[in-house]
Amino acid sequence: PGSYDVVIVGGGSGGVAATASLLKRRPSLSVAIVEPADVHYYQPGFTLVGAGVFKPEVTKRSMASVIPDKAIWIKKSVAEFAPDSDEVVLDDGSRLRYRALVVSPGIKLDWEAIPGLVETLGKNGVTSNYRADLAPYTHYLAQTLRGGRALFTQPPIPIKCAGAPQKAMYLSCDAWRRAGALSNIEVEFHNAGPVLFGVPAYVPALMEYVKRYGIDLRLESKLVAVDGPGKIATFEEKDANGAIIRVERDFAMMHAVPPQRAPDFVAKSPLAAESGFIAVDPESLRHTRYGNVFALGDAIATTNAKTAAAARKQAPVVAINVLSVLDGKAPHVGYDGYGSCPLTVERGKIVLAEFGYGGKLLPSFPKWLIDGTRPSRAAWFLKERLLPPIYWSVMLKGQEWLCAPHMIEKGEQPAE
Ligand code: FAD
Repeated sequence: PGSYDVVIVGGGSGGVAATASLLKRRPSLSVAIVEPADVHYYQPGFTLVGAGVFKPEVTKRSMASVIPDKAIWIKKSVAEFAPDSDEVVLDDGSRLRYRALVVSPGIKLDWEAIPGLVETLGKNGVTSNYRADLAPYTHYLAQTLRGGRALFTQPPIPIKCAGAPQKAMYLSCDAWRRAGALSNIEVEFHNAGPVLFGVPAYVPALMEYVKRYGIDLRLESKLVAVDGPGKIATFEEKDANGAIIRVERDFAMMHAVPPQRAPDFVAKSPLAAESGFIAVDPESLRHTRYGNVFALGDAIATTNAKTAAAARKQAPVVAINVLSVLDGKAPHVGYDGYGSCPLTVERGKIVLAEFGYGGKLLPSFPKWLIDGTRPSRAAWFLKERLLPPIYWSVMLKGQEWLCAPHMIEKGEQPAE
């Protein structure tokens, strides 16, 4: 098999950032990155495509252009992990050997889990910002719908960017409000979870918008089926006695977010935790059983918000700790669980949620500039103008000045 110092699985946000960070620190390293796709997406931009603020083109670049020059791109998929022999098995049966492995294959969008959904996506008023090609349809519906019921759904956690289902809703409501149509549209938010947002500090600001837009907030209401042509969605809810009941809602439009889980090849592998996601130490991001395996991004079994912002902070932690392990030392930097969710509450204003493990608030800005718990114009400017270039030119290039990891003081794991 081909043999490398480091094999990276996945050329998404986490995989490319970690590759760039590793090669920036040690250009002599031999690094192979396994990624089957031709296109790399800036997924945080999908929300603004859905709002008509970004053109779809600005969210995609060719994979070849984002993979660092010094890395070897293997344009295949990983089918299996064989961590006991330091190998990954590719979809064509060939194998790659590594001294250290970095895994970042993202999360699986399980569209098929909702009967009727796949067939109707992109028509009958059914859309989703979770698919690059459908985000423009969200914008179209926000521009053309002038009456009837609009449903927005959120599946059970974990999902990537847990705020994105409601971002689509607020921006659509804002478009209807501006067009004078909001009073004719009955908006319902069906959230499978028990709260509007997982970190309480941000809920009051969001609730103000729920009220302002007249949204009927339905917690613990889970989408389970769609009849696209009939324009009926079915939800599971609890009745007064706590028994599960099925409720049907007809709709003129629906923004659906699919259930999400670990990719199958991860869930069935020796790297998986019970949840199916990759079992890593939450600080060092090193695998809990295999000392030369690290992982980052949406595929890890940690409690941080699954966001590109999290991957931005995780990448240098992984890079530094991988180099330690290659040098026969223990990991010595840690990740604090930082994740960020810019909640677009109206066009031009954002509630900028930034928090780490345990829901600890980790604001990046002084309160006078951006108070994350209040809607802010500066935060919108950050999202629209600054974060995309930061993503492409800082994060994916391994520029580490924006994401200094903290040092692990104690609890180091012994090198194997
Ligand atoms: P990805 O970037 O999804 O990349 C995974 C890569 O792995 C893909 O390129 C895939 O082709 C590859 N892969 C999959 N299987 C295999 C295999 N078997 N072998 C090899 N390669 C494989 N984040 C924010 O920070 N802020 C936001 O505002 C925000 N908004 C979002 C809005 C939406 C609508 C969506 C969908 C996401 C949003 N995110 C946001 C989340 C963010 O995009 C993800 O958290 C981030 O991309 C995760 O990076 P990753 O490397 O784990 O996965």
